[in-house]
This record gives sequence, C-alpha cells and structure tokens, in this order.
Amino acid sequence: MSGVLVVTGGSRGIGAACARLGGERGYKVCVNYRSRADRAQEVVEHIQQAGSSAIAVQADVSTDDGATALFAAVDAELGPVTALFNNAGTILQQGLVSECSADELDWLWRTNVTSQFLCAREAVRRMSTSQGGSGGAIVNMSSVHSRIGAPGAFVSYAASKGAIDTFTQGLALEVVDQGIRVNAVRPGVIDTEIHALGGDPDRPKNIGPSLPMGRAGTPEEVAQTVLWLLSDEASYVVNAVVDIGGGR
Ligand code: NAP
Repeated sequence: MSGVLVVTGGSRGIGAACARLGGERGYKVCVNYRSRADRAQEVVEHIQQAGSSAIAVQADVSTDDGATALFAAVDAELGPVTALFNNAGTILQQGLVSECSADELDWLWRTNVTSQFLCAREAVRRMSTSQGGSGGAIVNMSSVHSRIGAPGAFVSYAASKGAIDTFTQGLALEVVDQGIRVNAVRPGVIDTEIHALGGDPDRPKNIGPSLPMGRAGTPEEVAQTVLWLLSDEASYVVNAVVDIGGGR
C-alpha cells in the first residue's frame, strides 16, 4: 500500500497497532500523540525498521491549532494525507449521570468528538477531488458502547461515540462524490491502557470471561479491520460502521 497515513493517538493502544501495521504495509505514517513522545518514538522506530517512513507529531487534536499544525507538519514532511484514522480518544472515570460535571463533559466531547471533526476537516480539504485532491479514505473510531449506552458506568463516553456514528454517516454522504470514503469501527473491550482512566486497569482481564468469545480483543485485531477499510480492497465500502466486538 502506498500513500500517507495519519493516525491520531498513534502512540499507544489501538492507534499504535494501526500505525505499525500501516507502516509494515507500505504507508508513510504520521504517528500523532498528545503527551507520550517516548511511546510515539517507539512506533516510529518500528515502522522505520519495517522499511517505511514515519514521523511522530505532537498535537492536541481536540484544538483547532493542534489539528491545523498536525496536518501542516504532515504536508511538509510526508506529503498530503491520503488515509486518516481518527482514533484519539479518552474516557472519564466510571460514574453515574447524576454525578457528571460540565467541565468533564466539555473535555470528553472535545477529545472524542471535536477532534474527529477537526481532523476530518483537514483531511477533506486535502483529499477532496473538488478541491484539487486525489481522494482518500477516513476511518472514525466509535465503540460498541454507542449501541449499549453503558448504563451505571460510562454513559458520557457511550454518548460521545454515538455522536461519532452519526458524524460518520453525515460526513460519508457529504464527501462520497469527492473521492473520499468514510467509515467507522466500533470495537468492544480491547486490551489497552485506556481502562486505567476508566478506573479499572484490569477490565479486559476481568470482563473477558463474560464476553461472547470469552476474552477481550487485541489492538492488532482492530488494526486489521481499520487497514482493510482504508485500503482499495474496501473500494465500495462507504458509511459502514463495522463492529469489532467479538459478538458483543
Ligand atoms: P489508549 O491506549 O489510552 O491510547 C489513547 C491514545 O490517544 C494515545 O495515543 C494518546 O496520546 C492519544 N490521545 C488522547 N487524547 C489526545 C489528544 N487530545 N490529542 C492527541 N492524541 C490524544 O486508548 P485506546 O484504548 O487505544 O483507544 C483508542 C481509541 O479507541 C479511543 O477513541 C477509544 O475511545 C477507542 N476505543 C477503545 C476501546 C478499548 O476497549 N480500548 C474500545 C472501543 C473504542 P498519548 O500517548 O500522548 O497520551
């Protein structure tokens, strides 16, 4: 595969797995991160050892300036983006809706929803055949929580991912005639560090046996589907939200 892949939140977890696999398959990869430069650099080195180009770019993609600077850096160092994995996201501590605060919710929406709008904006401006681009593909990160609501624990997170399902539908149909395919993935419980933020670092191990497959998923299992959606093998797949929940 050739082209320039931008992975937001590519320093750890699912984003890192996707960046590594993209590099192994021949993409030039931009590994975006917010704070963990060390982890982003590890992903860059893996891709370079696999024979492709990679850069790590620090940018808070929940801000206008961050998203703008990220894609400007990609233009300058790798060339215009052809594939975007809108992955960066977070979760609040487990809690009830009756305990929520506006500040926490604002931060969650910005990180999980605004960031995907801003990065899609930058990507569409570069990919759109109506604006002189050569087309491309975008995969947004949702969650099975958007279907189940996560009552008693993560309703705010689930609602932020519900917004991504709707965003995916709207954006997909807005740009489908501009050479851009937009889809989303909806993973179930995946074994990453995000669960520590939710209050249970061992959630994948603890909840695994109760899941339909008897285990949580791996970041690499999500990456396989993301890379497929970004590739020409999925050339007629548009406005799909693909569950990667092991039956959940
Ligand atoms: P993770 O291991 O906690 O990694 C999060 C990544 O996002 C890190 O690379 C982090 O950068 C980056 N990030 C967070 N906020 C950012 C910002 N404002 N700007 C730039 N980068 C930012 O999480 P993960 O489990 O891989 O989750 C990745 C995505 O998958 C999220 O959208 C999450 O909601 C979704 N998801 C996860 C699961 C699951 O069970 N793990 C299930 C469904 C969906 P730093 O390293 O610099 O902090």
